[in-house]
Amino acid sequence: MSLMNAAAYLDSLRDGRQVYLDGEPVADVTEHKGFRNAARSIAALYDALHGEARDTLTCDDAFGQRTHRFFTPAHSAADLLASREAIRLWSRMTYGFMGRTPDYKAAFMSGLAIGADYYGEFADNARRWHRAFTGQGLFLNHAIINPPLDRSKAIHEMRDVFVHVVRETDAGILVSGSKMLATGSALTNATFVAPVASALLEEGKAEDFALVFFARMDNPGLRLLCRPSYEARASSPFDYPLSSRFDENDSVLVFENALIPWEDVLVYRDRERATGFYAASGFANLYNFQSGIRLSVKLELMIGLLSLGVRANGTQGFRGIQAALGELIGLQHLLQALTAAMACDPERTAAGAWVPKLEYASALRIQVPQIWKRVRELLETALGGSPLVTVSAAADLLDPQVRALVDTYYRGAKLPPEQRLKLFKLIWDATGSEFGARHAVYESHYSGNADQIRLDALNWARRRGHLGACEDLVQRCMADYDLEGWTGGPWR
Ligand SMILES: Cc1cc2nc3c(=O)[nH]c(=O)nc-3n(C[C@H](O)[C@H](O)[C@H](O)COP(=O)(O)OP(=O)(O)OC[C@H]3O[C@@H](n4cnc5c(N)ncnc54)[C@H](O)[C@@H]3O)c2cc1C
Repeated sequence: MSLMNAAAYLDSLRDGRQVYLDGEPVADVTEHKGFRNAARSIAALYDALHGEARDTLTCDDAFGQRTHRFFTPAHSAADLLASREAIRLWSRMTYGFMGRTPDYKAAFMSGLAIGADYYGEFADNARRWHRAFTGQGLFLNHAIINPPLDRSKAIHEMRDVFVHVVRETDAGILVSGSKMLATGSALTNATFVAPVASALLEEGKAEDFALVFFARMDNPGLRLLCRPSYEARASSPFDYPLSSRFDENDSVLVFENALIPWEDVLVYRDRERATGFYAASGFANLYNFQSGIRLSVKLELMIGLLSLGVRANGTQGFRGIQAALGELIGLQHLLQALTAAMACDPERTAAGAWVPKLEYASALRIQVPQIWKRVRELLETALGGSPLVTVSAAADLLDPQVRALVDTYYRGAKLPPEQRLKLFKLIWDATGSEFGARHAVYESHYSGNADQIRLDALNWARRRGHLGACEDLVQRCMADYDLEGWTGGPWR
């Protein structure tokens, strides 16, 4: 096995997968106007593994396979720091605007071989998938959320729509049901399906839903129903420089009597393991690490956009505008600091991998939605209506009459009109276009609903004794005094 390059990756997507967009099946995602450029953006990541950045991006794993640094478990802070550089380098190739590049799911897959025993009778499946993942650099998406069709019902009461086992055969299990929202799935090699960590799977009732498995994208029982493609609607790179190449379509996955071979199953009708693997694998520790590094790159772009935007408007000298830019820079430093701490002050999983501390991962997870909301607010406030002082399309600039008007009336404080329009169209695509709006929803929700990400922090603090230690500190403080005055210490 060897790591895919761009051509091998694109070839791996031509497998008869059933992807539906705009009322039609997509014959070839690598050529279809809704996916073509996003596929090429991912393909470029694979080529980079073999290019001049090879040593930054890859290393030899414990099995002697060359792989992406984040695809293999870390054994020291130095390993995590090296992974941080690899993640950052890939993120810079998409300006932080692709959330689910193949390194995202490495947060789970990297520890699959050393943690294989967790999966009991399916441990060899874990080892085999790990080897394939690291050896080829497979691109996996994940689908763990049940669609919000009736949140008031228990999972087992939604058998008609939630993923469950229909029956088992000698070859494997037949599964039916749907999952949301498998980001990037149309461009991946396989999807990882599991209940979300907080899923309540009732004993004696929900065993059929207690499944964890890999589904290959060419499974005849799997269909992908896509949201609109922003790439397909992007009229030109000049008008939509991000939508037109980084749109990782989110899909609803529908399984109908899909045969999942036994060798692709990790957990079968086991309620404990079906959700317990999250904590055991260190997934939350690691995906937040990857996401934080990616977001930090995205903020670098946003800092540049705000700085150039206010200069184009001639507002860069105003005090409030400078304060906004300073705050944005501070947010990016915060992410850098958090991900540095996550690398340099790690903890060990039970299986022996070094992963960022869960407390740091949890802090970052809570901050991400707030940070992105604030970034958008800062740009919207500082730039006012300027992102919409634009023309309808690049084509307007090719029309001599409109061009003459643009050249007169669209000049920036220090920018020629064409450059000004180019800049503000990029700003709009990052914040206000349909692609930009989807990014706002993505950064708010990809890691769980707003309550859950905070509840998890509380539950983890309870479980690990941090909450108890905080309460003890209060008791100690109150023990310093009573009704008579000071009980001890330097105040007595
Ligand atoms: C752009 C985008 C990309 C995504 N990509 C992926 C992906 O690749 N893979 C994947 O698996 N998922 C993905 N998701 C799904 C994402 O994980 C969920 O949106 C997220 O976990 C929140 O779940 P939800 O949307 O179902 O909201 P809900 O969990 O339904 O929450 C909505 C609101 O209802 C409240 N609520 C819901 N249930 C309860 C309850 N039982 N008790 C009290 N309050 C409740 C919540 O507190 C919240 O305020 C993506 C989402 C988006 C928006």
